[in-house]
Amino acid sequence: MSLRFYAGKQILQQGESILLDEGESHHLLKVMRLHAGADIRVFTQGFEHQATVVGREGHQARVAVGEQCHGTAASLAVGVTAAIPWIRGGKTEVVVQKLTELGITTIVIYHAVREVVKADSSKLERLQRTAIEACKQCERADVPELLLADTAAHAVRLAEIPTSQCFLLHERSNANLLSTAIKHEMDSGRTFRTIAFMSGPEGGFHPSEVETLRNIATSVSLGPRILRAETAPVVAAAIVLSAFGEM
Ligand code: SAH
Repeated sequence: MSLRFYAGKQILQQGESILLDEGESHHLLKVMRLHAGADIRVFTQGFEHQATVVGREGHQARVAVGEQCHGTAASLAVGVTAAIPWIRGGKTEVVVQKLTELGITTIVIYHAVREVVKADSSKLERLQRTAIEACKQCERADVPELLLADTAAHAVRLAEIPTSQCFLLHERSNANLLSTAIKHEMDSGRTFRTIAFMSGPEGGFHPSEVETLRNIATSVSLGPRILRAETAPVVAAAIVLSAFGEM
């Protein structure tokens, strides 16, 4: 199986040649040491093509785009948005990696009231690379959209989702299980365009956040055990995908 490289947000056409960005070019030229004539694959937002390395131009690799490949991992039938807080110790990155592997469409990273890490938006670029690397590894061709939000409420508003399809993961609450809440919503016959869930930071949601989110999201539980901030969103993603027959 030939190596896969991300071609950025552009429309690929058979017969054209394109330059890969510096990150991808570095991987192709320096790490994998590929030369002109090497067969690779390139992918953009959901599409993947056979391609051949043409050569290098400065720090960039030029590749000739060939036939479209079919049968790469399809995008999810229903969009899934995950809103996650910044988590300490590089764990935001781990969560972005795992959510990408699972197929999540959009990841919104927000500043929680109880945030213990002072993150800044310059980290976004690094997270974008993480998502691209995960796509390359897991055969996914649609890179998830990564967004930043100032607050938990802002993250939910960005998702623009009906309250009954936007789930707040709330430990130690008497809320329904996430799986039950999704089934209930499915049984209601309402259609889903995008489903969203939101997880909290190491210290949990602040009461003020819960209060604000109460009107825009439905509280749900992931069971009686308290999961870590980096575990909960990954588990929630698996539950959502399983409910939609994606796993
Ligand atoms: N320190 C908090 C736990 C925070 S866990 C406490 O001890 O209460 C971090 C986040 O993971 C939570 O904000 C929540 O969004 C999610 N989470 C963890 N376990 C959960 C559970 N059993 N049900 C729902 N959400 C959970």
